[in-house]
Amino acid sequence: MKPIYFPEPFRIKSVEPLKMLTRAEREKKIADADYNVFYLASQDVYIDLLTDSGTGAMSSQQWAGVMMGDESYAGADCYYKVQDTAKKIFGMPYIQLVHQGRAAEKVLLGILLSGKKYAISNMHFDTTRAHVELAGARAIDCVVPEALDTTKYYDFKGNMDCKRLEQYIKELGAENIGVIIMTITNNSAGGQPVSVENIRQTRKIAHKHGIKFMIDAARYAENSYFVKQREPEFKNSTIDEIIKAIFEDADCFTMSSKKDAIVNMGGLVGCRDKALFELIKQRTISFEGFITYGGMSGRDIEALAIGLQEGIDENYLKYRIGQMQYLAARLDEAGIAYQSPVGGHAVFIDAKKLLPHIPYHEFPAQALAIELYKEAGIRACDIGSYMLGNDPDTGKQLEAEFEFTRLAIPRRVYTQSHLDVIADALINIKERASEIKGYKIVEEPPILRHFTAKLRPIK
Ligand SMILES: *Cc1c(COP(=O)(O)O)cnc(C)c1O
Repeated sequence: MKPIYFPEPFRIKSVEPLKMLTRAEREKKIADADYNVFYLASQDVYIDLLTDSGTGAMSSQQWAGVMMGDESYAGADCYYKVQDTAKKIFGMPYIQLVHQGRAAEKVLLGILLSGKKYAISNMHFDTTRAHVELAGARAIDCVVPEALDTTKYYDFKGNMDCKRLEQYIKELGAENIGVIIMTITNNSAGGQPVSVENIRQTRKIAHKHGIKFMIDAARYAENSYFVKQREPEFKNSTIDEIIKAIFEDADCFTMSSKKDAIVNMGGLVGCRDKALFELIKQRTISFEGFITYGGMSGRDIEALAIGLQEGIDENYLKYRIGQMQYLAARLDEAGIAYQSPVGGHAVFIDAKKLLPHIPYHEFPAQALAIELYKEAGIRACDIGSYMLGNDPDTGKQLEAEFEFTRLAIPRRVYTQSHLDVIADALINIKERASEIKGYKIVEEPPILRHFTAKLRPIK
């Protein structure tokens, strides 16, 4: 039987024309870009899968909200709207606006980690790790081992390894750990969900040791939909009820609104404790702006208040996760390996399996990203050895555990025909995989080189 996917719960009112270059033109563009997709002009890309962050399509309601936005410095109407909406959704009494997810981390982690040595998470997102380190602490990842096996099915590959967490607390001393962070969905593990059972267990361990429990909620709605599908206790619950179960008794959360709240810019911090909220407000005023706008313009706040509601609509989430599952099913048919089961916001193609003849130091996942652009104007990115870079001590290229080419799917932007173009491009590439060559770097900066390095194909 064919699996059932869920169609778009919207129709299109405004369109953004896309340029369609010829293959010869694309080959020239990527060569001119020194084989680095970050140097491509977006106008030369047909399907842009670089990220799902801030790239979603706003609804007609949200665009109407843009006109309604109150730009007053203090006490703007949109501020009260977003406060009401967020308090209702998350069940937290105190909510602070900030301009994006990393701003939320800067405001909150500086408080939680003051005088502390460690933060432990199922997996820190890269900006979260950076803010843990900027606060003078070290970030420790503690994901379940199932996350590391790309081919094995497991319902909740994003979960915290609770046994290991207990060991870490014993070894490091609870008094040295400032916060335990649950990232939902687990972005770095491939957008993999975390179960409510695992959230409860982790929260219990944190509180038993007097450690604050925080949720990194960038993709909390997608996570809630997976919980409904896969965790028997919640199969008859509404998305709203699942969100309440996730945030129940959490001390605080940070959120990038650029993901599940379907806006182009924005973030939130939430907490339960009044004293903590006072500190959050003080830091927001110095880093972001007055507390009723927190670094955002009124029009963006109004769009956020509406997007928060739209992002937790069950029909929308069915369609959203359905898009990932549709693309994944087409790859299954064609025998193309990816991090399986597919996560909530992206498909991670296993380039090691598709291009087994290219060694890690010739960057198979980057080679696949370049082929996707040449084949169909698709922009994806390398999450592998090319991104990992060199050993800072020896200067030698490091070997990543995985060579993934990430296809991040923007929200409400591309249709099922676009997904077919992506699948067909990958199938065409697979057919001539053995002819595809690796790449060498001819110029690179010392850190975060993947954004600006220059590459050449190996002859
Ligand atoms: C995107 C993201 C962040 C950072 O948010 P920005 O809005 O990009 O600053 C933090 N955590 C997770 C899990 C994310 O996906």
